[in-house]
Amino acid sequence: MNSWRDQHRLGGEVLPIVYNCLNYSPSAPGQPTLLTWDDATTLFHEFGHSMHGLLSNVTYPTLSGTNVARDFVEFPSQVYEHWLSTDPILTRYAVNAQGQAIPRDLVERIRRADTFNQGWSTVEFLASGIVEMDLALLTNVPADFDMNAFERDRLAALDMPREIIMRHRLPHFGHVFTNDYSAGYYGYLWAEVLEEDAYGAFTETGNPFDPATAQRFCDFIFCSGNLRTPMESFVGFRGREPREEPLLRSRGFPVTTQAAGGR
Ligand SMILES: [Zn+2]
Repeated sequence: MNSWRDQHRLGGEVLPIVYNCLNYSPSAPGQPTLLTWDDATTLFHEFGHSMHGLLSNVTYPTLSGTNVARDFVEFPSQVYEHWLSTDPILTRYAVNAQGQAIPRDLVERIRRADTFNQGWSTVEFLASGIVEMDLALLTNVPADFDMNAFERDRLAALDMPREIIMRHRLPHFGHVFTNDYSAGYYGYLWAEVLEEDAYGAFTETGNPFDPATAQRFCDFIFCSGNLRTPMESFVGFRGREPREEPLLRSRGFPVTTQAAGGR
């Protein structure tokens, strides 16, 4: 997703011009082109970004659409991915070239596979997020700073399992010093905390398309850009601060009594 023009009304009503550019694999000659599950997930993710741009309803262009903190850019588009696996969408759109809907047992297998290997992936990701944060918190960096020794020491302090390596080891960790990341790698997981908790607001009503919840999602997230601080926006939508239990559940982790107690 990208935008040619952001919505604003400074000096007159300016409507947004937003596009999704989806690069999918073409089929063999004469064969129908179909999307994989991953392709469809990306389609929904990017369309979520589009909604963020298209529904924007603010005065100032600097506050418009996806001009928000990085985790707050990804959070609503990740929420959008959830609608892909709802029954009305699958029945109507998840069809093969003959028009037959995706079989129920395949949907169940996809849902069960959601939690596959999540322990491994989470540790792999967090190792990079935490060590990157440690790096950003250094106040004195000696001229002969040894990046590899630093990484080794930090991982030892974390009791990093020997069997898992960092998702991105420091010497090739592009996010560390690129302009708009700066210790923001953890933000992908934080966006997921927001995402899982926010989608719960829909499922708790018993209807993933609940109109009143959707309206609140628009008012506080999709339509309001950077009008409020991210926490004010989240609390406006959810009625409270985010909780981590929905993320733990979605990854198949046990939720302890302490964690379930919330903040
Ligand atoms: Zn995204």
